[in-house]
Amino acid sequence: SSGNVLLRDPRHNKGLAFTEREREAHYLNGLLPPTIATQELQEKKAMHILRQYEVPLQKYIAMIDLQERNERLFYKLLIDNVEELLPIVYTPTVGEACQKFGSIFRRPQGLYISLKDKGKVLQVLRNWPERDIEVIVVTDGERILGLGDLGCQGMGIPVGKLSLYTALGGVRPSVCLPITIDVGTNNEKLLADEFYIGLKQKRARGEEYDELLEEFMKAVKLNYGEKILIQFEDFANHNAFSLLNRYRNTHLVFNDDIQGTASVVLSGLLSAFKLLGGTLSDHTFLFLGAGEAGTGIAELIALQITKKTNCSIEEARKKIWLVDSKGLVVSSRKESLPHFKLPWAHEHEEINNLLDAVKAIKPTVLIGTSGVGRQFTQEVVETMSSLNEKPLIMALSNPTSQAECTAEEAYTWSKGRAIFASGSPFDPVTYEGKVFVPGQANNAYIFPGFGLGLIMCGATRVHDDLLLAASEGLASQVTEEEHAKGIIFPPFSCIRKISANIAAAVADKAYELGLASLQPRPEDLVKFAESCMYSPVYPSYR
Ligand code: NAP
Ligand code: MN
Repeated sequence: SSGNVLLRDPRHNKGLAFTEREREAHYLNGLLPPTIATQELQEKKAMHILRQYEVPLQKYIAMIDLQERNERLFYKLLIDNVEELLPIVYTPTVGEACQKFGSIFRRPQGLYISLKDKGKVLQVLRNWPERDIEVIVVTDGERILGLGDLGCQGMGIPVGKLSLYTALGGVRPSVCLPITIDVGTNNEKLLADEFYIGLKQKRARGEEYDELLEEFMKAVKLNYGEKILIQFEDFANHNAFSLLNRYRNTHLVFNDDIQGTASVVLSGLLSAFKLLGGTLSDHTFLFLGAGEAGTGIAELIALQITKKTNCSIEEARKKIWLVDSKGLVVSSRKESLPHFKLPWAHEHEEINNLLDAVKAIKPTVLIGTSGVGRQFTQEVVETMSSLNEKPLIMALSNPTSQAECTAEEAYTWSKGRAIFASGSPFDPVTYEGKVFVPGQANNAYIFPGFGLGLIMCGATRVHDDLLLAASEGLASQVTEEEHAKGIIFPPFSCIRKISANIAAAVADKAYELGLASLQPRPEDLVKFAESCMYSPVYPSYR
């Protein structure tokens, strides 16, 4: 009967919040206990239950259960308690969930496309119950967070990211589609696990891989049109760069690990330079780690320099140096470097460790994107401090255990002079009576608002200038008072407002570049963004 259908449908279910009239009209009498609760009371109760779980993974499972039972209440919780619940629904807990995905898998939450579907990917897409999709987050599971190859179990990532699109960016849940492409896994543990949910074979590479991805990209456009946003997520870097290059001129694509990271970090830099004085082009950058994050950030910095000065991109890149697992990236190594490192292979003698690189390059900004913890040693931080009045240090590797140094180390070793930001959150540090608030360069600052901006103006391509607009949009949200305290990222509790402003900045740039298809251009883009945003408040059913 109709009552039962309403209760079983997470998109419509309100549980005890169905009113007396709704219960009468929709045959719900008797199917619910007599109490009528407000959404606020339901939220209070759900948070109370959640806080009783001590193990983060239990909280994660409780949240997923809620999402599958009552979607609006799930989003109400997530929006109202974003700082508390983000680490559950997203990194770090989502990583653990992916590792144990086989055993916590309940109801399918996204679409699986595997090698077995070759030749019929379009049909598989059509099995998804929603027809109008505006954003897809897709992974092949090869490099999940810092956890490596989790194969098909990577599904937790697109699911989690899209929850943030909705909660933080206000993109309606019905238009979001999480996808995992299963081309096998090279994770021996999973291959030997009798409960593993994915294809039990080694990863397809080369032509076989490219053909499936090509079929997928074609099918997506065929099924959803030109304006479908496809976010690539957690691909290993041998595929990530080439996929982005292959599809950036034919599809609306965006890689969060490369471009989203770059945009959020650039925003932190712009904000920090207001504190430090000078502009981007006055600084020298040294990265530890020359992968997706490192080269992505480096390229966006170089691009921003070319916008603000008259120099060429080649000139701009010369102020930026990268160290990878073999040492400083230099021109004598060109033969053996992958394509995406070539722009950074400057003339210099070979140097095989970070400390010597710091001494030789004399950076003003040191950024860690290696995935390897404890690399910013006391000596490295002290050298940075002897070179700079206020060294800017970003230890971006996740999770916390992999951070290049802790907030406390950065402040202590620099004698309170460093400006510090990290990938994983650190608590404020008191050093010699003064409180220092470290920044968190969380990608979740950018991608939800960025995506909303693209969707709301009907953008057809992602241009790097849109990423710059997002960076500036985020940096502009830091208030004078926050700056005075050394804060370079705005508080996360205002994320919906931040996202609306980022969306407006992105859409504004898209109109300027002729990339926006929605006409006429809404006059007030911030207001327009806000009006597009999903609200988790219950509708009433007549
Ligand atoms: P990736 O593509 O695998 O790149 C890792 C890079 O680090 C590679 O260039 C690698 O060198 C280098 N490396 C590894 N071990 C090293 C060592 N001992 N010394 C020097 N370099 C070393 O990974 P990614 O996607 O860039 O991510 C890297 C880290 O950044 C991860 O921990 C991730 O969590 C973090 N991250 C943070 C944020 C954020 O804060 N918002 C965003 C994205 C990523 P080779 O090239 O020689 O192999
Ligand atoms: Mn990622």
